Amino acid sequence: MKILFATSEVHPLIKTGGLADVSGSLPIALKTLGHDIRILLPAYSSVLEKITHKKIICRIKLAGYPEEINILEYTLPNTTLIVYLVDAPTYFNRPGKPYTTPDGYDWIDNADRFTLFSKIAATIALNQTQIEWQPDIVHANDWQTGLIPALLATEESRPGTLFTIHNLAYQGLYSYDTFKHLNLPQHLWSMHSMEFHGQLSFIKGGLTLADKITTVSPTYAREIKTSEYGYGLQKLLRQRSVDLTGIINGVDYSIWNPEDDPHIKHNYSHDNLENKVLNKRAIQQHFNLPETDVPMLSFIGRLVDQKGVNLILHALPKLLESPVQIVLLGSGDLYYEEELNKIKQQAPDKLALLIGYDEELAHLIQAGSDMLLMPSKYEPCGLNQLYSLKYGTIPIVRRTGGLVDTVIDTSPRSIKHNTATGFIFDESDHRSLTAIILKANHYYTDKKDVWNQLIINAMKQDYSWEISAIEYVDLYEQALIF
Ligand code: ADP
Repeated sequence: MKILFATSEVHPLIKTGGLADVSGSLPIALKTLGHDIRILLPAYSSVLEKITHKKIICRIKLAGYPEEINILEYTLPNTTLIVYLVDAPTYFNRPGKPYTTPDGYDWIDNADRFTLFSKIAATIALNQTQIEWQPDIVHANDWQTGLIPALLATEESRPGTLFTIHNLAYQGLYSYDTFKHLNLPQHLWSMHSMEFHGQLSFIKGGLTLADKITTVSPTYAREIKTSEYGYGLQKLLRQRSVDLTGIINGVDYSIWNPEDDPHIKHNYSHDNLENKVLNKRAIQQHFNLPETDVPMLSFIGRLVDQKGVNLILHALPKLLESPVQIVLLGSGDLYYEEELNKIKQQAPDKLALLIGYDEELAHLIQAGSDMLLMPSKYEPCGLNQLYSLKYGTIPIVRRTGGLVDTVIDTSPRSIKHNTATGFIFDESDHRSLTAIILKANHYYTDKKDVWNQLIINAMKQDYSWEISAIEYVDLYEQALIF
């Protein structure tokens, strides 16, 4: 099958979160299954800086745009995977992040940027370029590409379309004036298309007009059909229930594996766990924490409401009374950054905090910590808990989304059957989080045999992409018949 995979992030070229990890690994798994999959990505300045061998494969002239747009072809290192880069300098070649300015504000022209990107995707999908390659399927991801299924829906001899929701909270909402300014077909302004309560909703393009919809875990697929998690889109998602599937994300174990992870000095597996402790020492040295054996709890991620940072913030004072070390790596809301910093000043020998984005450190923290905190309000899939399982770092998670689908709570029954891999709590409040952490600490300190078994159970979990990739192929085949 020929598949065009349109995405706004791909690891290792550009990453702000889990979407990049998925875009950098699912296509490789699909390629291994024998499919001709090619990625389409904006040529951000930071991407252009990273890559060397690239060539212009074609130029595209879009109606209403003054200049031709170059499409560059690049092959991802150590793979045969082709990435087409949309080289539109006015839109993408600028300092800052994919969606935000260097000081953290949304780019004012994001709607223009991803409209251009989607129009290019649609043009390639309809085989109207010199690439002379028509995909059977276009796989679009998140709001930035939601317009693609909408643009294709009315075209004859179009490919099938599949839209994946990686996070329903980000919808790409803009005013009617923006809609007019974008010069989009008027029929898209309808509640059965991209209009959402008087606004233009990019994500609705995918939700209403893609042939198939997926999200990244079965539980999240159920949750988004409820008012609690649906952001007003739950009714639409319920209407599209037969076309909506949850497929759990996989892990690229060539990047996330403690046995040969190049980012850590002390590689290990479940039968030489002594080396795991050496990574804990490396973290303690890195952050100037005492080199003791108290439980080390970590958090890696965006410092935003979704990730339950508020719960951590309020749980910290009580937790810091007990013998623990807590390591936090992330960036996000200024409020959380400042509040966490204040607490760190009061407990420098127990709390380590790095505000920023540091891939190498993320690997070390996964390797050396005893537990990983994911008290998310909602979590479409979550990748960090999947990495932590592989690293024998016991996840402590809230009962939501992909966390439920991937972590097995520690109970007398799961201990007896050697299936327990982590700790799950229910209520999204700091007392529940504190209680579950204290329970986990109790196992860590007083029930070492159970704890060691948890580590082994966790490390044996297999979330490689093969199975999930086959599920995608199944859906691509169903989308083909439209
Ligand atoms: P989300 O996509 O919602 O941000 P996920 O758990 O699905 O959350 O994926 C987050 C990815 O981003 C993981 O690979 C994680 O290691 C990485 N990550 C997040 N924040 C940081 C950070 N501050 N430094 C390094 N890696 C980070």
